[in-house]
Amino acid sequence: MESRFLVLGAGISGLAAALRLRELAPGAHISLWEKSSRPGGVLHTVERGGFQFEQSTDNFITFVPWGLNLCARLGLTDHLVRTNNRDRRTYVARRGKLYPLPDGFMMLAPTRLWPMVTTPLLSPLGKARAGLELFIPRLADERDESIAQFARRRLGCEVFDRIVEPLLSGIYAGDAEKISLLATLPRFREMEKKDRSLIVAMTKTQKAARRAKREEESGARYSMFVTLREGLFRLAEKCAEAIGEGVIHYDRAAVRVDRIPNENGADRWRVTDGRGATEEADALICALPSPAAGSLFSESVPVVARYYDAIEQTGCAVVSLAFRDKQIRRQFKGMGFVVPTKEGGSIIAGSFSNHKYPHRAPAGYTLLRIFVGGARAPELAEMADGPLLSRVLAEIRPLLGAEGEPTEVEISKWPRGMPQYHIGHLDRLAELSRALDREPTLALCGNSFTGVGLPNCIHTGEEAAEKVVKCFVSE
Ligand SMILES: Cc1cc2nc3c(=O)[nH]c(=O)nc-3n(C[C@H](O)[C@H](O)[C@H](O)COP(=O)(O)OP(=O)(O)OC[C@H]3O[C@@H](n4cnc5c(N)ncnc54)[C@H](O)[C@@H]3O)c2cc1C
Repeated sequence: MESRFLVLGAGISGLAAALRLRELAPGAHISLWEKSSRPGGVLHTVERGGFQFEQSTDNFITFVPWGLNLCARLGLTDHLVRTNNRDRRTYVARRGKLYPLPDGFMMLAPTRLWPMVTTPLLSPLGKARAGLELFIPRLADERDESIAQFARRRLGCEVFDRIVEPLLSGIYAGDAEKISLLATLPRFREMEKKDRSLIVAMTKTQKAARRAKREEESGARYSMFVTLREGLFRLAEKCAEAIGEGVIHYDRAAVRVDRIPNENGADRWRVTDGRGATEEADALICALPSPAAGSLFSESVPVVARYYDAIEQTGCAVVSLAFRDKQIRRQFKGMGFVVPTKEGGSIIAGSFSNHKYPHRAPAGYTLLRIFVGGARAPELAEMADGPLLSRVLAEIRPLLGAEGEPTEVEISKWPRGMPQYHIGHLDRLAELSRALDREPTLALCGNSFTGVGLPNCIHTGEEAAEKVVKCFVSE
């Protein structure tokens, strides 16, 4: 009899899982339930008036392979677009003005000293304290700490408040006082362990990277980030096409998961939808975000329910605004800017989308993508469009010298859309992994585990498929 696999959730994680199942077990019966009426989950691209608006994910990293690999398998490699090489600068807001991020500052550490010495973002005392990083001893034990604790310990309060905190918020939309260093940026602890000083470690890494680049005949093939010319929703559409007809069941939400015990230890699963209909499967992959997933498992696998329920989520909104170039008095050559929490206000970060990816706006227009809310103001993810727009405009007018009304506006809101890996995440993940080792027919994937970025989600989906297929397909 053919094996039956059921996947829950057709975001990129569930799509990657179903596609991998299709590849590994071509003859199996695969079913993918999706609550909404389209694939992609948070991925959605809107085209209007010559503009391309990404409603959530803007691009993805290329220094892990999983995003690029999936694009290659779907025939999308030629559709990848790298970030514009000319305007790479990032700005940081300070007292209502934008200043360049010191050249070579990478997330949690400087790689070049002179730009740190000359930056107007830091006071002389703040710079001197950052320089002491070279002499600060390494942490004596292996304990986890928050990103805020780590950055303050190594580089001082000023570098944390004025540079590290806004850079981090721009990615995780979270509270750096709670986010676990080891769950999000473990490489910085590794650097400390190995070289003691982050400055020393980063300088070495940069030198090696420059050497590798020189040695690479054709130069780097991809920039650090890429996107798809047609928008990232195309990735979801192509996945859905490749999975095949009749597999994805839209407008079908899972409301309950029951275990059907099996004597050989490979339990089967029964999932109930919102209308009370059920489907039974030999193996189940859950690719749902944690707020949707927890309650499904409360009776059948309590350890899974506990794990999902412990993950805090924060909300955010993306407000895209198109202006004619002449409406923006202060034009900045760069990718975008970040705003420290200490500056006040709702904006976490903004991209100059037309600089970053010129195909996203017609010539003569500036397309801003403003990211608001996060741990500093999650309520903005549920605010009505009118007041939200007024608030964002009131903040960007003085910052960028924006005049008049935007010619196009696109707003997307993601209440509870950003999982937060707080201190304790890795311990909970280890407990979950031990429990899942005893469940060969159950796998979980998505952004609640080892990373929130698109490539990581794809990877968890593919790993989930590989795990459950093992029970049914001989090598
Ligand atoms: C505003 C924003 C900006 C981002 N920017 C970037 C970026 O630039 N780069 C990057 O790499 N990552 C970015 N991310 C992160 C990344 O997009 C997500 O982590 C990733 O897309 C999550 O995919 P997923 O499939 O795990 O979850 P989701 O996309 O949330 O998909 C889950 C799916 O499950 C469905 N579902 C929910 N409940 C049920 C149910 N009961 N039954 C059946 N189906 C259900 C949902 O409808 C949804 O389709 C961003 C995220 C957000 C919110």
